[in-house]
Amino acid sequence: MQFHLNGYRSGDPDIAEAIDQPGPKDEVDVLIVGCGPAGLTLAAQLSQFPTIRTGIIEQRPGPLEVGQADGVACRTMEMFEAFGFAHRIAREAYWVNEAAFWTPDPDQPEQIIRSGRIDDVEDDLSEMPHIVLNQARVQDFYLEVMRNAPTRLTPDYGCILANLTVDRTQDFPVTATVETGGNATTIKARYIIGCDGARSAVRRAISLKLTGDAANKAWGVMDLLATTDFPDVRLKALVRSASEGSALVIPREGGYMFRLYIELDKLSADERVADRDVTANDLIAAANRIFAPYSFDVKEIPWWSVYEIGQRICDRFDDDASDPCVFIAGDACHTHSPKAGQGMNISMQDAFNLGWKLAAVLEGRSPPKLLSTYSAERQAVAQDLIDFDRAFASLLSAEADPAKVQHYFTKHGRYTAGVETQYKPSIITAADTHQALASGLIIGKRFHSAPVIRLADAKPMQLGHVASADGRWRLYLFADEEPPIDESAPIWQLCDELLANAPKDADLDSKLDVRATFQQPHRDLSLEAAHPFLLLAKGRYGLKDYEKMFCVDPSANIYKMRGIDPGGAMVLVRPDQYVAHVLPLNANADLQAFLGEIML
Ligand SMILES: Cc1cc2nc3c(=O)[nH]c(=O)nc-3n(C[C@H](O)[C@H](O)[C@H](O)COP(=O)(O)OP(=O)(O)OC[C@H]3O[C@@H](n4cnc5c(N)ncnc54)[C@H](O)[C@@H]3O)c2cc1C
Repeated sequence: MQFHLNGYRSGDPDIAEAIDQPGPKDEVDVLIVGCGPAGLTLAAQLSQFPTIRTGIIEQRPGPLEVGQADGVACRTMEMFEAFGFAHRIAREAYWVNEAAFWTPDPDQPEQIIRSGRIDDVEDDLSEMPHIVLNQARVQDFYLEVMRNAPTRLTPDYGCILANLTVDRTQDFPVTATVETGGNATTIKARYIIGCDGARSAVRRAISLKLTGDAANKAWGVMDLLATTDFPDVRLKALVRSASEGSALVIPREGGYMFRLYIELDKLSADERVADRDVTANDLIAAANRIFAPYSFDVKEIPWWSVYEIGQRICDRFDDDASDPCVFIAGDACHTHSPKAGQGMNISMQDAFNLGWKLAAVLEGRSPPKLLSTYSAERQAVAQDLIDFDRAFASLLSAEADPAKVQHYFTKHGRYTAGVETQYKPSIITAADTHQALASGLIIGKRFHSAPVIRLADAKPMQLGHVASADGRWRLYLFADEEPPIDESAPIWQLCDELLANAPKDADLDSKLDVRATFQQPHRDLSLEAAHPFLLLAKGRYGLKDYEKMFCVDPSANIYKMRGIDPGGAMVLVRPDQYVAHVLPLNANADLQAFLGEIML
């Protein structure tokens, strides 16, 4: 973490200096509807930009206090790292390290037995763990980021979006009608984002429909404090009984609480789960039947719910392919079962994909066409999820072969960890012409971090952790084998060219944050001989940035771990941590041509 660049400031460096945002309160650049995981990820991202006026409204009277989703995938933790709170979540959360499988005992099918136990996350899939934490707590961390941001963004609670209209001839094309305490007012916005859940009013207003399976599925979910003789209550456990249905155990943060998901019968086409009058006692009774011969003596139920799930998706996530100003994200555009723990994760990743794009366009750093990539990229990801969820759900049905279930779970561990998302070639994702130069940093997939040693202060760290959620592109230079102080070395020449291309009217890394990694051990390199572009003078005092250069960690060599060619490579990474391009060190012209399409 870097601070004090423009002068010493005492106190918590996570709390940015507040700025004034002039302008009427009912006129914003971005209006976000809904304070769920999607809305708050977007708000936390946009709150970092002093020139962008963001509003966020929520129909609830205050922050979510309990319940809903709880699984946080490794990939989401990588994103939390960029927001600066991954380590705090990791401390508080339950870590999912192993998963257990329980199936009917072949000798006594009315009883379950453990049929397998596997690692939940394969080695080196991510530097981050797969964790479980209450959605309400995850949301608290975002609210804190927003409060501490320069814009001091806070949600307007008790505020319901009733309607919206769009008139593209206006500077602020969106007019939203919102109701607060029975009074209707309007808010004008350049963009409106519906993060308003499965019954989205924004989706309705732009006439998009969730389509998919009509046969909805009902789930009972309970957070419990209970005593039990079921031995795997502190492991994620998939339990399938012979005739009483399936259940999922999710151990929870704090060491004592656990969650049970109980699959209920299918609902008929026009039936709502509320019509069933399911009670918490019904769910406990069902759990005791599924888990026989084990049982639960429930002491307290901090939260429970019964909710219905259809595997449904919208065919686009915005209102216009070429000039979108209304977007939907999260459950507003896709719903599916909670079995694979994806709901909250995919919703947050939708918002992270959109946030930097909105910021870049609103700040005039990128052309508006960038916004069309949101629906194209995220609709494909959601469609994959729907397909995966359907296959996963049928595998957990009573007839499925236990070995197949376990195999499927293992095979798709990367997918559920969130690291398999791969965006197709577009204006922000290049073709894979030079992929072989960094075979483990795959174009279109998230930047897969690895250990390095920071040159200036010998700090061992993860290279990917230099990426904060500040909307900047990152260029990782992996030097060739020659000493980087040699002016004829490819890395030196590239730095000369990058310096010539850097902005003249702001800090040189304000648009593109360049970081270099060298193959030599850190004690063999002299900092002062490095190229000046890697020791940038920045800020009002022209202080040097000592955190641009890294060396391999001999105990975990990033070149070997990520298949980086000893002749070096450039890896361009988007602000949402996805690899956009891989190029040889002598291809600055190609790099500038690519960036020229998307940076003004
Ligand atoms: C009751 C319930 C239980 C769930 N349980 C689980 C679970 O156990 N496991 C799991 O994996 N997933 C669960 N989910 C799904 C999971 O919570 C979602 O996938 C995830 O929260 C999606 O995030 P989101 O931000 O897209 O939407 P949401 O979290 O639904 O957030 C939408 C927000 O928008 C607000 N809103 C809606 N309409 C308006 C409006 N017109 N004006 C203003 N505000 C509005 C809502 O109050 C809400 O706060 C559950 C969802 C619900 C609703």
